Amino acid sequence: MVQHVPFINYQKQLAGLRPELDQLLEDVIFRRSDFIMRDDLLRFEKNAAEFVGTKYAVGVKSCTDGLILSLRAAGIGPGDEVITVSHTFIATIASIHHVGATPVLVDINDEDLMDPDAVLDAITPKTRAIMPVHLNGRICDMMRINDIASSHNLLVLEDAAQGLGAKYHGQSGGSFGLVSSFSFFPAKLLGTLGDGGLVCTDDPEIEKKVRLLRDHGRVNKANDFAFFGFNSRLDNLQAAVLELKLRYLPTWLERRRELARIYFKELPDEIKLPPFDGEGRWDVFQNFVIKSARRDELAEYLRKSGVETLISWPKGVHENRHLFSKEYSLPKTERLCQEALSLPMNAELTDAEVRTVCKHVKEFYASVKSHA
Ligand SMILES: *Cc1c(COP(=O)(O)O)cnc(C)c1O
Repeated sequence: MVQHVPFINYQKQLAGLRPELDQLLEDVIFRRSDFIMRDDLLRFEKNAAEFVGTKYAVGVKSCTDGLILSLRAAGIGPGDEVITVSHTFIATIASIHHVGATPVLVDINDEDLMDPDAVLDAITPKTRAIMPVHLNGRICDMMRINDIASSHNLLVLEDAAQGLGAKYHGQSGGSFGLVSSFSFFPAKLLGTLGDGGLVCTDDPEIEKKVRLLRDHGRVNKANDFAFFGFNSRLDNLQAAVLELKLRYLPTWLERRRELARIYFKELPDEIKLPPFDGEGRWDVFQNFVIKSARRDELAEYLRKSGVETLISWPKGVHENRHLFSKEYSLPKTERLCQEALSLPMNAELTDAEVRTVCKHVKEFYASVKSHA
């Protein structure tokens, strides 16, 4: 019998939380009917800021909005260049475009994260900021990126959508730059029942501006507006759900690391494993991304064996040539897009399920050898 191993298992996570969720919905929806900018949001913002290790956290509609509002709050706009990676979700790059600035894309290093040397090479007199992306739950080389930023007078805005709870030299993802944005899209490390995002900062001016920007620039109820803003509030109900789930997040992150250890132990030598910890790091595996020269065949073999995988980046964003005025050649990003495969990774997986995945990967390589 084929044992199905799901890439993601919302039902299992939610079933485990059902008694608490039922109570929460009863309270927030039916008893209090608290929907917009209520105490649950304030409470979640306070606890999330504490978790990340920043002074402030502001709930927003999504990480995409968080990035856009952060860029605006930092005063970045037309004429400015912002350096980021192509090896990311398109929202990172789109946010820069949407404030009228120019995204400048650089290649990745051997850890498949923003290459600080490439950042140095990309700096021009127009460069205003760097936007590192802590992809897959591992923090970029923030010591070097922050050094480069301070020596060239640039701002650092973190795309921390995949870096919640990851650490580097004791500091958490989202606490390294001027401002950072997180995503609570359901499949993220901390997911809500729909869309949600968060902006974190230590800077009171940025905090104040993002707070105003997310709510129409509204200063008070007397119809005073500081500027034209947006409606990008985090729903109170989503905040209440996130507040509940945040209490479980440390356990879930530990569980992801435990599962990663099984993958490390049991995957065959033919597989190139992702980086894991080392020099002050604590990775949280938003995704478990392996590399294989036979990626497409392997993915197909696993699919037939009942294992769900994902090719998260079939090509680099820069390969959408029509989106950019300049033609990029980013060889490491392009090569990664041909080899990378995300294996099932979520806190609900059992040890046995991960072992099943490893068993099928081994079988695949055995079958390849016997045909050679
Ligand atoms: C998910 C994600 C985003 C976008 O988050 P939303 O909340 O869906 O807007 C941005 N950047 C990265 C790296 C992501 O993984």
